[in-house]
Amino acid sequence: MNQRTITAAAVFCGANNGHDSAYRESATALGTSLAQRDILLVYGGSSCGLMGAVADACLASGGRVTGVIPTALAKHEISHEGLDDLKLVESMHERKAVMASLVDVFIALPGGFGTLDESFEALTWTQLGLQQKPLGLLNINGYYDDLLSFANHQVNEGFVKPIHRPLILDGSV
Ligand code: AMP
Repeated sequence: MNQRTITAAAVFCGANNGHDSAYRESATALGTSLAQRDILLVYGGSSCGLMGAVADACLASGGRVTGVIPTALAKHEISHEGLDDLKLVESMHERKAVMASLVDVFIALPGGFGTLDESFEALTWTQLGLQQKPLGLLNINGYYDDLLSFANHQVNEGFVKPIHRPLILDGSV
């Protein structure tokens, strides 16, 4: 992956906070950092959990935030009221496609099944050459250690090509 100027980043993360306060603190730090670098934050548009934390922090530091949320989920996930740009889409598939179209890179904070789905779909599109956009895992408190080990296992067992393993960037903090 060549050096590039990053103007927009998609952040995938939990609709929950997790048990350890370090997760929310890191989401806040990421939102602040994106604002300071004038990188547009594109995320799922919710005010819940780490999703809300990263958006709130970015906005509080004067950053730009675009939320993308399916109409059917807008109520359930409690869409963020403070966004200038909240895009309502028809489906989860459209949400991921719209988010990907707006950004240069993907960043995954700790999260649940939804975060994994979003992260690995983005990773798969890059692996297939449909886009050239890396995925950085913010490995807070070693949350993704087992997943990173499993990715190595996938390479060792011949299901992931070694050249594709570096598409997951390990951001241990
Ligand atoms: P989670 O990581 O499960 O807390 O979910 C974080 C985000 O992923 C939320 O915005 C969810 O709407 C989204 N999400 C949850 N389940 C799915 C799914 N099956 N496919 C795509 N996105 C999902």
